[in-house]
Order: sequence, then structure tokens, then C-alpha cells
Amino acid sequence: MAEGSPKPLDGALREELSRIEAAGLLRKLKALGGPQGPRVEVDGRAVANFSSNDYLGLAAHPALKEAAMEEWERGGFGAGASRLVCGTLRGHSDLEEAIADFKGTGAALCFGSGYAAAVGTIAALCGKDDVVVLDKLSHACLVDGARLSGAAIRVFPHNDTAKLDSHLRWAAKAKPGCRVLVVAESIYSMDGDAAPLREIVEIKERHGAWLFLDEAHAVGVVGRGGRGLADAAGVADRIEIQMGTLGKALGAHGAYIAGSSVLRDFLVNRARSFVFSTAPPPPVAAAARKAVEIVRSAEGDGLRGRLESNVARFCQTLGISRPAAAIVPLLAGPEAAAVEAGARLLEAGFFVPAIRYPTVARGAARLRVTLTATQSAEAIDALGVALGELADLLPGARGAASQS
Ligand SMILES: *Cc1c(COP(=O)(O)O)cnc(C)c1O
Repeated sequence: MAEGSPKPLDGALREELSRIEAAGLLRKLKALGGPQGPRVEVDGRAVANFSSNDYLGLAAHPALKEAAMEEWERGGFGAGASRLVCGTLRGHSDLEEAIADFKGTGAALCFGSGYAAAVGTIAALCGKDDVVVLDKLSHACLVDGARLSGAAIRVFPHNDTAKLDSHLRWAAKAKPGCRVLVVAESIYSMDGDAAPLREIVEIKERHGAWLFLDEAHAVGVVGRGGRGLADAAGVADRIEIQMGTLGKALGAHGAYIAGSSVLRDFLVNRARSFVFSTAPPPPVAAAARKAVEIVRSAEGDGLRGRLESNVARFCQTLGISRPAAAIVPLLAGPEAAAVEAGARLLEAGFFVPAIRYPTVARGAARLRVTLTATQSAEAIDALGVALGELADLLPGARGAASQS
């Protein structure tokens, strides 16, 4: 090939990227300055951050930093190997014990990320003769885990328990005796609403299915001491597999599966994203353990109280009803409208990037506002005013328009 002619790979990818761009779906990374927090630096300018999952403001909490530094001093940074080889260090086992105690389960197992936890666990539990039944709005990692498992996949419309029930009846008839795994989130990441958890638990029990519950946006935020929606709904001990992430409200990184110690032993042997991956750095595990301690303490209650009043304040400003946790989706519809709304907010000093396909359905683009414990009342009120001026782009924020 001649010097300087386009490389076949780059040429093909450039073509595909221009198709993505033409559809209004091109995404770019934006590097922020400063730590994660209520104000971040975007393109050299400080703006109010309303897009973080750091719901309690723990990502930059001094106690997490101190715990990480202490572990770093004691045991170095990298784990050096997978957990099964020589990478299980005290930081990991301490964290897993703390999570099992927090969640009230027999055991817990940590993974490098929520994505890895979901994919590895679902694919370990089910195979080609089994059935995985998912809520339509399930996070991509849950869908990918189901696909990787090779199981037959059935999807029910979001929170439609009648359809869930009929899928489970189908499974019993079409594949008698097979494993059936129901997969749902407790607080949905892009819609912010809650699963009808008691009903789901009753249905899966009636059919002898298992439930995998992803509490990524609930742990730390919802339930007594931030234990999640399963605890709040009083059904935690009836859910076989409880997943949560350590990188959102817990301000660290990684994820856990909490359940029986048999489940843990099984995943240690069979979850490929666990077996074939280097263990997380012990200082990260130490920070996560400190976060668990804070979340379940009086300080955690205080932070949840602040978060709760920030959510209430924001919803009141917009004249909309309160979400189940701390996520408020403002629907734009067309991708271009969501992008335009996000750009105008950034100009006005608010960071709320547009959420588009494939994160949400085509034509259901939106701004996803997240509230945190550390945002100021002034910033929340100012965002309400700024949103009021975007009513043409955001029919989902109509309450704001009628007030301005
Ligand atoms: C963020 C998220 C995950 C993935 O967790 P990571 O630790 O970020 O990989 C899984 N499920 C849901 C619902 C999420 O929002």
C-alpha cells in the first residue's frame, strides 16, 4: 500500500463514525478538571455538576482517601495477580466481609466493575438450556451477561409484571426443569423509577425462578442505612443474587455480588470475569470498605437526608413529582434536542450531558439530572431557572416552563 493512503481500518471506521454523527449519536469524551464533586471544571470553566452518580459525595471524601493511603503504605498499590492466583490480599477479604455484614447475606464477592460482576455472574449461573428473563430497560451489562450465557432470552416491557409472569409460565412449559433467572434493576439508571420488587419476588417464587437484582443506583441511597431497595421492600432475604456497585454512591470503584456462601464459592470457580482478571488494587478495596462504613453510619443518614432534601427542592422547582431515588430524567425525544439542551445548559454553567441511543431507546433522548448530597440550594434553584428557559427542547420539564 502506498505511503499516506488511508489505512483500511481507519477508513472503514471513519465511515462508520460519520454515519453515527449524521444520526446525531456521536459521542466524545470530555476530560474534567478537579475531583468529582458538586462543581467541576469543564473546558477550563467551573460549572455545577448535575450528572454524577456520586450521590453522597463520597468520591472525594477525606476518609476514603485516608483509608486508601493507609492501605497503599502498608501493602502497595497493585494486586499483581488474579484473586485465585496470588491476588487475594487482606483488603479484598476485609471488604467482602464488610459487604456481607452490611447486606445481611452469608457472603459477598467483589469484582473489578459492575459490568464485570453482571456479565460474569449471569453467564456463570445460566447456560444454553436455561432461560433469562429481563426487564426491557435493563442495563447493557445485564443484557450482555444474558447473551453471553447462551440461554434463551425473554424480555418483558418495563415493570410489566403480568408479562414477566407469562414469560415464566412459558419457560416452565417450553423447558421444564431448566434454570430460570429473572434479571431486574431496583432503581433504573436512566429512568430513575423503582421496580415493583415485592411483586417480582412473589412471581419468581411462584415459578421457582431465581432473581438477580442490580442495585447500582439504590445502594447507599435507598433503604435503612442505604442497604438498597430489597431491604426497603422487606424482601432482601428472598432474593438469591444481589448486585451493587462500589463506584457510584460508595465513591470508590468495583462491584459486589451478595448472597449465600455457596453462591460465592460457585462464582469463585465459574465467573470468568472474576477468575481471569487481575484483582482490584487493595487501596481501592480499602476505600470501598470505608465507604460502606460511612454509608451505614449516622454520617450516612445525614448525607441521605441532605440528598433527600435536594431531590425534593429540585422537583418542587420544576413542579414535578419526586423520583424513587436521586435520578430525574427530563425527556427531550429527538437526539438533536437533547444535545442542544445539554449544550445550552453548559453555556449557562450546568453540566448535564445528553443521554442518547444506545443508552436509551432511539427517539427517547433526554437529560438525566442527578442530585447529590453536596449540591447547594442556590445551584439547584439556578438549574431550575435555566431549565425553565429550555421548555421548547424539553417537554419533560414542562413544570419548569409553567413556573417561569
Ligand atoms: C453503572 C451500572 C453498572 C455498571 O457498574 P460499573 O461499576 O460502572 O461497571 C451496572 N448496572 C447498572 C444499573 C449501572 O447503572
